[in-house]
This record gives sequence, structure tokens and C-alpha cells, in this order.
Amino acid sequence: MHSEFELIDRWFKRMSSRADVLLGVGDDAALLQVPPGQQLAVTVDTLVAGVHFPHETDAVSIGHKSLAVNLSDLAAMGAEPAWVTLALTLPQADEDWLAGFSHGFLELAEACGVSLVGGDTTRGPLSITVQASGFVPDGLALRRSGARPGDALCVTGSLGDAGLGLAWLLGERTLPPKVGQAVRERLDRPAPRVAAGLALRGLASAAIDVSDGLAADLRHILQASGVGATVDVDALPLSEPVRTQSDARELALASGDDYELLFAVAPADEQETVARLQAQGLRCTRIGRVEADPGLRLTNADGSPYAAATPRGYDHFQESD
Ligand code: ADP
Ligand code: MG
Repeated sequence: MHSEFELIDRWFKRMSSRADVLLGVGDDAALLQVPPGQQLAVTVDTLVAGVHFPHETDAVSIGHKSLAVNLSDLAAMGAEPAWVTLALTLPQADEDWLAGFSHGFLELAEACGVSLVGGDTTRGPLSITVQASGFVPDGLALRRSGARPGDALCVTGSLGDAGLGLAWLLGERTLPPKVGQAVRERLDRPAPRVAAGLALRGLASAAIDVSDGLAADLRHILQASGVGATVDVDALPLSEPVRTQSDARELALASGDDYELLFAVAPADEQETVARLQAQGLRCTRIGRVEADPGLRLTNADGSPYAAATPRGYDHFQESD
């Protein structure tokens, strides 16, 4: 059995390749240099076993996801991720679990150029808190509050995959095993849309990451911006596995954990935005329009009001009012 310090040294202490990390793991606090002309975007999220991920989730995925959800918040602000701290509460110091967790966490950190600069390690029921900081040039942060009537509403990637993955994992739906594994991957190893967030700087009028479901998260933009919107549910981007579900559109509207970016963009900037995202191989779909009239209106492709196909989907959707 290793001491807390041996555990930190072994699994979490890495040399930082970032010049702005003056002092990382090992002292009483990290010393970090914010570049001139940049603002610091700071966010924190806690993941509790059995609440934010199923108990049976593998350690690599938990490591990946606990960082990914924070990087997704930075992406939604248009911030370039730089530093993270990790507060880890563990029932026991299980070496296999720690090996998997630190691998999942540090691999994503490296892929995104992020350094782990400190943290805290305690004993108790499994819970992971990650705090992430990133840079955004003065005045260029993407907020929830800038959407204006006439703006297009767009979303990256596809929606509903993680929700379908969870339903499959819980045995609520049957899918061919390969398909089930693929959508479960979206649930367990979300890809934070960091490059998309950077591409949207200076173009999007408002942005949010879709963590609680498209309808719920869109409402946050609408409320913060003091506007309303109409969304064409037939335009929602769906992957093949989601498209073939009888309640595909409800999955896309109401299920969470997709970590795509939802944003508003003025008509004059729409073409350039789509081109910038496509240049990076990122899919981007226009799903609706911002309007002055408050509230969220859902329509079919022909403009008629949308009625959910299943009562369950409808209830879930209403919850987010
Ligand atoms: P203190 O008692 O000053 O809070 P700790 O014993 O909690 O110090 O931590 C020692 C060092 O290890 C600190 O630099 C802290 O930031 C770092 N640290 C602790 N836990 C972790 C972790 N899970 N990941 C990364 N760094 C950690
Ligand atoms: Mg401490």
C-alpha cells in the first residue's frame, strides 16, 4: 500500500511541457503565468459515481470523461484550455483503477495540450472534481447572452448518441452489440469540441455546450439573451443508430451528455462560420432561428407544430421548462 504522496508521484506527477507552468504538482500551490492580453476562463465540475456515470464505468473512461466535461465548458466559452487541477476522492488506492484513470485523464490532457498542475487526494466514496482554466483574448469569450433575433441556431456533430448509449447500457434498449458499443463510446469518452470553440471566436453571438440535452441547454441561451427561438426538429443532426430509433427526435432533443456546441450566429457571419468548422472536419448543422418572441417553439420540416412521439420523451422534454 502506497502513501498518498507516492500515489500522486506515481500516477499524477508529470513534467509539464508548458512554459506558462512555473511550478506544477508538488508544492503548496501551482504558479501559473497568464499571457498578456488574455483573460482566464475558469470552470469546475464534479462527477459522482452512480450519479454522473454508471458504477460499472471503466476507470479509463472515468478519467477521460472527468476532464472532457470541463474542457467542453472551456470550448463553449471559446477558451483555449491550459491548466487543470484534480480533486480525487477514492474508496481505496486500487492500483489498477488508478492506472486506468490516470491514463484516460492524462492522455486527453496531452492531446489537448493541457497540464495537470495540482490537486487533492482524499479517501471516501468515489468522486472526481476537475477545475480547468483556459485563455481567451480580451473581449472574445463566447457567452450565453449574445443571441439576437434573426441569428441562425447551429449545432456541431450529432445529438442523442450518448443518451442512446446510456439506454443500451441500462438494458432499456436492444441494439446490435457493435452499434451499442459505438454509442456507449459517445457516453463514456466524449470528445470536447475545443477546436470548434476556438473557430467560433469573433463569429458566434452566443454559445453553450450541450450537456443536459439540446432543448434544456438552448433554453439557457434564450433566457440569458432575452430572446426566443423556433427549432425544426427534422433538421436535428442524427447519427445512423439514433435515426433508426422510433423516438429519434426526442433522444436528440432531451437526452444529455453529447457535449456538442450549440451556438447562435448572425446571418452575415453564418457562411464563414460553417466554412471554418468544415475546414477542420467538423460537422455543423443549422437547426433553427432566434426570434424576438420569448420561448422555444418546435416545428416539423413543413413548419407545423411538433408533437413528441412518445409520452416519456414528451415528459422528459417538459421537465426542462
Ligand atoms: P497540501 O497538504 O499542501 O494540500 P497535498 O498533500 O494535498 O498538499 O498535495 C501535495 C501536492 O500534490 C500538491 O502540489 C497538490 O497540488 C498535488 N496533488 C495532490 N493530489 C493530486 C492529484 N490527484 N493530482 C494532481 N496533483 C495532486
Ligand atoms: Mg491538499
